[in-house]
Amino acid sequence: MATTDRQARTLALAHALSAAERGLAVIPLSRTKLPALRSPHRAGPDPGPGPAGRPCHGECGRFGHGVYDASTDPVRIRELFAAAPWATGYGIACGLPPYHLIGVDLDTKSGTDSSAALRELALRHLFTIPETVVVLTPSGGRHLWLAGPPDTVVPNSAGRLAPGIDIRGAGGYLVGPGSRTDHGVYTAAPGTAHLAPAPCPPSLLRLLLPPPRAPHPAHPPTGGHGQGLVQFVLAAHEGQRNTRLFWAACRAYENGIGPALVAPLVAAARDTGLTEREARATIASAARLTGNRP
Ligand SMILES: [Zn+2]
Repeated sequence: MATTDRQARTLALAHALSAAERGLAVIPLSRTKLPALRSPHRAGPDPGPGPAGRPCHGECGRFGHGVYDASTDPVRIRELFAAAPWATGYGIACGLPPYHLIGVDLDTKSGTDSSAALRELALRHLFTIPETVVVLTPSGGRHLWLAGPPDTVVPNSAGRLAPGIDIRGAGGYLVGPGSRTDHGVYTAAPGTAHLAPAPCPPSLLRLLLPPPRAPHPAHPPTGGHGQGLVQFVLAAHEGQRNTRLFWAACRAYENGIGPALVAPLVAAARDTGLTEREARATIASAARLTGNRP
């Protein structure tokens, strides 16, 4: 039976309030998964009265600042939903106390096996994915909820760990379980709804943080290190070629040897069956995602 929008909003509000009781700050979302309340500053170039010229994050006192509206206060949450009667879901802000939530978004749409890529990262970096909240998306994807340390800002990233794995960190949000969207309902995986977000394993956390900026490394990287990355690409079988090349290129750029390793990585990738064009495109996107110029 179809759920009316009114019922959907009531349900979303109930889920949002219960998430807030657990300490998670929430905002209403529309059926498109976007914040339901539009910016009060969208009409003009006026960014609002944000400090030091940055865009307003709610200092104007009005609603409509996306994830910056997020709250754990039930009174405010009811006000937010009252202002957005078309809301059918809710978003949970990442990076805020007490959990400093980090969302690991395992996508299935891009044709990559992101779960396998995560398992590969776990093996390679010696971490295990802890038992934690898992939210199932209508498209067959999964969101793992992890708790971050309070003193560390984990940035949002798309495909930096591996293709198909996006990270929701500070300034990002996760669609809460029970939310209804155009594509279906988000649900907690059986047996995980009652869990608290488990602490992010330290070696996974290190992969999520931006690389230290070191334009002139104190110790020039040895040939051995770059050779290891090339070997990693050469050993790829068909399903992993692009994932491995991307991963190796990210590590190369993070270690300041990206430009020097482009040619060897392209050659290795061609050895595994990628075209030069595919290889260069993957390396270029690794360069961009690590803050380098391709
Ligand atoms: Zn404002």
